[in-house]
Amino acid sequence: MQHASGVVREFDASLPPAAQALLARAAAFSAEHVAPFARDWEYQRQLPLDALVRACRAGLAGVEVPAAQGGLGLGFGARVRMVETLARHDAAFAFSLVNHHNVTARLATLPDRPMGGWVPAMLAGELIGCTAMTEPEAGSDFSAIATRARRVAGGWSLTGEKAWITNAAVANVFLTYAQTEPGSGPKGIAGFIVRVDPGDEPGLTSFTRRPAFALHGAHAIGAGGFALDEFFVPDDQVMYAPGTGFKSAMAGVNAARTYVAALCAGMLDESLAQALAYGESRHAFRRPLLDNQGLRWSLADVASELEAIRLLTYRATRLIEVGEDAQWAAAVAKKFANERAVAGICACMQAMGAHGLRSELPLARHLATARVLSYTDGSVEMMNERIGHLLRTV
Ligand SMILES: Cc1cc2nc3c(=O)[nH]c(=O)nc-3n(C[C@H](O)[C@H](O)[C@H](O)COP(=O)(O)OP(=O)(O)OC[C@H]3O[C@@H](n4cnc5c(N)ncnc54)[C@H](O)[C@@H]3O)c2cc1C
Repeated sequence: MQHASGVVREFDASLPPAAQALLARAAAFSAEHVAPFARDWEYQRQLPLDALVRACRAGLAGVEVPAAQGGLGLGFGARVRMVETLARHDAAFAFSLVNHHNVTARLATLPDRPMGGWVPAMLAGELIGCTAMTEPEAGSDFSAIATRARRVAGGWSLTGEKAWITNAAVANVFLTYAQTEPGSGPKGIAGFIVRVDPGDEPGLTSFTRRPAFALHGAHAIGAGGFALDEFFVPDDQVMYAPGTGFKSAMAGVNAARTYVAALCAGMLDESLAQALAYGESRHAFRRPLLDNQGLRWSLADVASELEAIRLLTYRATRLIEVGEDAQWAAAVAKKFANERAVAGICACMQAMGAHGLRSELPLARHLATARVLSYTDGSVEMMNERIGHLLRTV
């Protein structure tokens, strides 16, 4: 978009050439493999596994995986801009991809463990990853999870249920958080890799995949759940030892909030572009719609807020890249981006009259997805909790 290109151009210019090349590839991939199909994916109400695998094969799942392990070895800025680029056409698909990427990148930190050896298959999309914290009875309060991990010979036995897990509909590698000492809250939480190979699943009694949730949008996220009944996890698949699981899970949360803000920017950017194009070409009362000051002002508000979303998002991104504390920056970016994207997409739809409702256009899909992103990686209320807490301590 002309109006915001300065902020984006400036940020992209700060990225290394390999990241810029990735963004060009992501844009081309999105135009060819996402834009034409996103509406059908939504109608089919399921995660498009073929497209996810294709994205992996196009190298989009290895952004921050070290080059020595087959990834691109790029920084967080590349990940943020890649998801923003894909989100123009389908933020739910981008969210699924980045969640898979995150598990792949975590496994890549363990090159000397057997799990590190799964990275090539993850990069190729032969294995799909997900991160399972939430449970039917514990969402915002992660410390209250009830999935129990019991010590047994050679490993751990896991029993419990996970819900609302991105990619759970198709995943094979589940980074699963469980409580090792009931009643101990965050202190007893550990992270385990539950691996279920497609061929094994039908006969398994210790693992039951739940059907994905039926929503009013964002089905490409493939949010579902699974139940574990004395599922054995060997010691070498303990990702985070008891006592470190909670902290490790939280360590990724600022990055997640920041890329969710970027997803919101991508959706809002596309919605604004559509509204501007319509307002120029559509005539009412013998003049273009955009000749009406009220409409121009409404879209000027959207453009101003989009610019602010990007500035907040890129600031949080930079802090994360250099390893500085990004709690405040990420929470403010996510809250502002999400709330203003919901309002802004509505304004763009309003500016397009009935046309804005058409399923050929992404606006209504984007609106539903923006609402879904109000809960992921910390709800708006949890952002307020974090911001409010920091207001009193800094
Ligand atoms: C599509 C989708 C994908 C998801 N993907 C994942 C995933 O990959 N992995 C994963 O682990 N989880 C995932 N989640 C779950 C998500 O993290 C939770 O939805 C979120 O943590 C909120 O939990 P909840 O939905 O159980 O809401 P609840 O905890 O039941 O809260 C209900 C409402 O109360 C508010 N609330 C709660 N506590 C307070 C408080 N102290 N003060 C004020 N308000 C409060 C909440 O903000 C919310 O608005 C996903 C969710 C969705 C919708």
